[in-house]
Amino acid sequence: MKEKLEKIMNDAVEKINISAKLEELNDIRVAFLGKKGELTSILKSMKDVAPEDRPKVGQLVNEARAKIEGVLEEKKTALASAAREAQMKAETIDVTLPAKKPMMGHRHPNTIALEEIERIFIGMGYEVVEGPEVEYDYYNFEALNIPANHPAKDEQDTFYINSNIVLRTQTSSTQVHEMEKGKVPIRMIAPGRVFRSDEVDATHSPSFHQVEGLVIDKDVTFADLKGTLAEFAKQVFGEDTKVKFRPHHFPFTEPSAEMDVSCFKCGGKGCRFCKGEGWIEILGCGMVHPHVLEMSGIDPEEYVGFAFGVGLERIALLKYEIDDMRLLYENDTRFLKQF
Ligand SMILES: [Zn+2]
Repeated sequence: MKEKLEKIMNDAVEKINISAKLEELNDIRVAFLGKKGELTSILKSMKDVAPEDRPKVGQLVNEARAKIEGVLEEKKTALASAAREAQMKAETIDVTLPAKKPMMGHRHPNTIALEEIERIFIGMGYEVVEGPEVEYDYYNFEALNIPANHPAKDEQDTFYINSNIVLRTQTSSTQVHEMEKGKVPIRMIAPGRVFRSDEVDATHSPSFHQVEGLVIDKDVTFADLKGTLAEFAKQVFGEDTKVKFRPHHFPFTEPSAEMDVSCFKCGGKGCRFCKGEGWIEILGCGMVHPHVLEMSGIDPEEYVGFAFGVGLERIALLKYEIDDMRLLYENDTRFLKQF
């Protein structure tokens, strides 16, 4: 009986030692220690053992059971920790791999141009003022000397919210708000988004940006206007830049002019960039119409002023020699990251 037990025990230990999986251990437990297991069948055959030997055999069976259970438990722990180690190995992070670089954003060419324009005018003592993009018809047109029957008010030119409210077509409306505050002298620029019902092409967009300027004081002359804008042109396009004023018409200024700058590519000799002209049209300007001052509550007998408006995209396109305005709005990072 003792030998039989030893054989069962050795069999069990051997099977446990060669098993490589936790499931196999469970099968071994059932085979030896289960209800129909080999060790249990020994206990069942106790009736054949002489009564005086039974305690001894019982003890041997218990020892064998304890031994098998102990080895099983050890092996189970070893297999579990091996499995955990294998899993850890599989999930290891290689810290020597280069990390994914985040995409770094940067300023849009429009923003770069705007910040430069703001820097120039702030340097000359101007204030930067912002106004609403959705504006009363009065501030966008009437108060700027554009009466109800003016062609600029055509539905082809303007986005109407209703008969009283429009998407502003110019940031000059901000100047009217500023004048109405009655705090003169005024020296301001009004940058911002404006809207026109234009078809999209290389030089037009239904939404673009303007920077308009306004100076109102007691002794302002056209010479101040010319000097200010000549300085602006030099700072944007280079020290050698010359300016030229051509008579023009705007409802809110009188007299009015358009300003050209000498081509900064050819110095005025004429090239492909300036289409052989030697000059590039930059902005509109003029002395504030007395009626505009009067409508906003400023006495035109006491105060005079000048105003100008420049397209922000125009400056950005020229500055970076971009030939299609649409590129500024497409948000193609391959294009934008060049600036
Ligand atoms: Zn040129």
